[in-house]
Amino acid sequence: MAKHRLFGTRTPSRAASRNAVAVIGLGRFGQSLALELMNDGAEVLGIDTREEVVQSLNGQLTHVVAADATNEDVLRQLSIPDFDRVVIAIGSDIQASILVTSLLLRFSVPHIWAKAVSDAHGMILEQLGIPHVVYPEKDMGRRVAHIVLGSMQDFIEIDTDFAMVKTEVSPEHTGVRLGDSGIRRRFGVTVSSVKHRGEPWQAATADTVLHAGDIILVTGPTRQAERFGRAAS
Ligand code: ATP
Repeated sequence: MAKHRLFGTRTPSRAASRNAVAVIGLGRFGQSLALELMNDGAEVLGIDTREEVVQSLNGQLTHVVAADATNEDVLRQLSIPDFDRVVIAIGSDIQASILVTSLLLRFSVPHIWAKAVSDAHGMILEQLGIPHVVYPEKDMGRRVAHIVLGSMQDFIEIDTDFAMVKTEVSPEHTGVRLGDSGIRRRFGVTVSSVKHRGEPWQAATADTVLHAGDIILVTGPTRQAERFGRAAS
């Protein structure tokens, strides 16, 4: 019989609701994700082997359990096969990450996200069949690097090789219609939204004219978006 301690008001039931998410591994990433999901109104089941982490989250998540998620019996007792959405937030213990991943795939959980701590780890997860592999450290490192260098106000890689850049408009792109600016032709990126000084964000169109001090959101293939962001600074 698998042993685990469950905190929470109700026993996790059949996928609880469409809004239910299980987060396996409550390190810094898993905790922050689980708490944000709670903020967004989800029902969250958190699982971690570390009793002290589980106790500290008691009352903050819908359910929180001290258990070893590599144990198939434990996952079955917690109704994990009934969840639609599960996040594997175990990173440094790659063996545990892979074991949990293979169990979730065996349960045919429809939507699985897994954290990877390295490219090799990510490649294994992808080869196992995880469609959503996230690299929090790597992605945040890249994002912060762009901000620290001052070339962009923000940078988010939305998908492999597609990114969004927030930057101040450069003087060479002011005073002309976006349709006539040649930005798309020259840089391969699209200005999607604009914030004129003192105004709310709005969608950009071919007729939008940018002014000094405007902030723009630009999307495009990562390299081109980076190149545009640097050129704009
Ligand atoms: P973070 O950067 O998110 O803090 P980390 O890389 O420092 O994570 P990890 O090894 O990824 O640490 O572990 C994240 C959490 O997953 C830890 O709290 C750890 O106790 C938990 N964990 C590791 N193995 C298991 C397991 N088999 N079952 C449940 N939880 C686990």
